[in-house]
Amino acid sequence: MKALVLEAPEQLRCKEIPIPAPKGDELLIRVRACGVCGTDLHMYHGDKGAFANAFPLVMGHEFSGEVAALGPDASKFQVGDHVAVDPNLYCGKCPACLRGDVHFCEHMTGIGTTRDGGFAEYCVVSERAAYRIPDEVPFEYAAMMEPLSCCLHGIDRSGIHPGDTVAIIGFGAIGQMMFQLAQLSGAARVVVVEPVAPKRKKAEEMGAFLTCDPQREDVSEKLQALHFHSVIECVGRKDTMELAVQIAGSCATVMLFGLTAPGTKLELLAYESIFQKELTITGSFINPLVSQRVVDLLSSGRLDLGKIIAVRLPLAEGVRAFTEKGLSADGKIVIGDFPAAH
Ligand SMILES: [Zn+2]
Ligand SMILES: [Zn+2]
Repeated sequence: MKALVLEAPEQLRCKEIPIPAPKGDELLIRVRACGVCGTDLHMYHGDKGAFANAFPLVMGHEFSGEVAALGPDASKFQVGDHVAVDPNLYCGKCPACLRGDVHFCEHMTGIGTTRDGGFAEYCVVSERAAYRIPDEVPFEYAAMMEPLSCCLHGIDRSGIHPGDTVAIIGFGAIGQMMFQLAQLSGAARVVVVEPVAPKRKKAEEMGAFLTCDPQREDVSEKLQALHFHSVIECVGRKDTMELAVQIAGSCATVMLFGLTAPGTKLELLAYESIFQKELTITGSFINPLVSQRVVDLLSSGRLDLGKIIAVRLPLAEGVRAFTEKGLSADGKIVIGDFPAAH
């Protein structure tokens, strides 16, 4: 089969490798669509903080496809079923798992991070990792189950209630997913802070109450009259995280979702910004036990994911996602040999 093989940092090649055989409860998945994530780019560059991986590795942890073959102990699926994959598998036995904090499992394995993933024609996954997707849901949408699950966990922690006013800082693919999930959570007004004009335009098309350009406008001043119940930061930079705290209203929740560089320090006014506003500042780590809810949302047709996909590449050209600067500027890159939904 064809696969994008990472042989060393910045050494990614499309080459022929053997099709893996499903063992035990594994399924062989014919991958149809696999999203490119910031984590993949970090791994590609060999960045600190990205998973320490053994080479060669097939990356890709955001994927969907069809069941092509079953391992001898697999019993939940049939050949031909459409599935999306939750790449993070917890052990269920360690202290973190037994506390219910499965995302902090001490023996976590990750498809596409610690073992071969979805930038290939085929991939094997435990059937525990697979979720059945209705045939009507396009593969490229189903491939977004994993990042949507991460976002949904963040939304769960952001305390949004019907009627709330929410700010989203950063409108890349993640900000765009957060936007839709905030709307679905009942937010009455969603404001987007984003320096890139086409992304602000997209936010307006999606129904943003207001957009703001932090490079040309004084954001705090422009948003002064709004009381934010929740601020979701989707960038991961010191200045944008501090801005999130600054614009949050009293009793608000600040959800720091953007992946930040290890060692990043924030300067916050403990009295004025936290005590006087009674803020809740929180983080969100991966996507524990929310995949089925995302599958149900995908099945309901209530997410508009076509807008989020910026670039579609066949597997044979997948390397371009990593080597062409700015390709993902407006949203998500999806790799695979699938029919586009639009
Ligand atoms: Zn990801
Ligand atoms: Zn565990």
